[in-house]
Amino acid sequence: LTQLFRPLDMLGWVYRTVQQGLIDMAEMFRLIDTPIEVADLPGAPALVVRDAGIVFDNVHFGYDPDRMILHGLNFTVEPGERIAIVGPSGAGKSTLARLLFRFYDPQAGRILISGADIRTVTQASVRAAIGIVPQDSVLFNDTIGYNIAYGRAAATPAEVTAAAMGAAIDGFIERLPQGYHTQVGERGLKLSGGEKQRVAIARTLLKNPPIILFDEATSALDSRTEQNILTTMRQVAEHRTTLTIAHRLSTIVDADRILVLDQGVLVETGSHAQLLRQAGLYAEMWSRQSVEQADHAAV
Ligand code: ATP
Repeated sequence: LTQLFRPLDMLGWVYRTVQQGLIDMAEMFRLIDTPIEVADLPGAPALVVRDAGIVFDNVHFGYDPDRMILHGLNFTVEPGERIAIVGPSGAGKSTLARLLFRFYDPQAGRILISGADIRTVTQASVRAAIGIVPQDSVLFNDTIGYNIAYGRAAATPAEVTAAAMGAAIDGFIERLPQGYHTQVGERGLKLSGGEKQRVAIARTLLKNPPIILFDEATSALDSRTEQNILTTMRQVAEHRTTLTIAHRLSTIVDADRILVLDQGVLVETGSHAQLLRQAGLYAEMWSRQSVEQADHAAV
């Protein structure tokens, strides 16, 4: 009988592990139905991040090889640089981020982190090096403290509090009747979009990764909340390499460099001022968004 149950046990374990993995993935990019397509090479070592530089070297990728999405992306991100990735809907911004996190391998070209081709090291070590602040975090039906510590279960209460401070959500939590023990999620306290994003920032701070991927919320938070989140993100970004997938250009004007993607091609690169002077796609998107914002403000 035990023989019979062992496979079932194993299946349960695999199921739980996969499910946990999927929660992480869904949290990132709403990827819940994404198949797991990549595997570690036998004996692959862990990635050692000496410097958090990133290279996309002639990366070609399509979810389906008959429909390529990224057409030979080339760019280098220096350690500590703050990069924004912008472009029209469907340009390939999230796809680029998924490749960096190694959900998929490119059909051609290479992605390097700290000089290592990410196909030659373990996926777990690649994912450990990258912290993600998704646009809409999944909260577990558990305490807010658990939700912050998720991903580093061994964190001490003092570390959880420090992370909450770093994400500027400590005051909010301390004012809750049960503090860090307050239940959140569907069956508990509902958090606003901004508060959820702060929980995600706190989680990322606990993880303390050298690279951060910030997926800006598509729907605007109210402008004060957004400004506060951006200020927090700027602090978090210090001494780290950060990539922000941005929808509102007003939030990334001070990025070190902006990569403009269009239909899977990197069409422009530069600072906000440089790109405005180029009078290309970025300048066009900027003037369109400025008009929209003015219209919005006039309502
Ligand atoms: P948005 O700003 O609208 O989020 P994006 O620039 O992030 O867009 P991607 O999500 O990377 O764009 O999508 C690029 C292209 O890849 C789109 O044409 C999309 O249809 C396609 N695509 C995205 N995800 C998948 C997937 N899981 N399977 C197949 N095709 C996909």
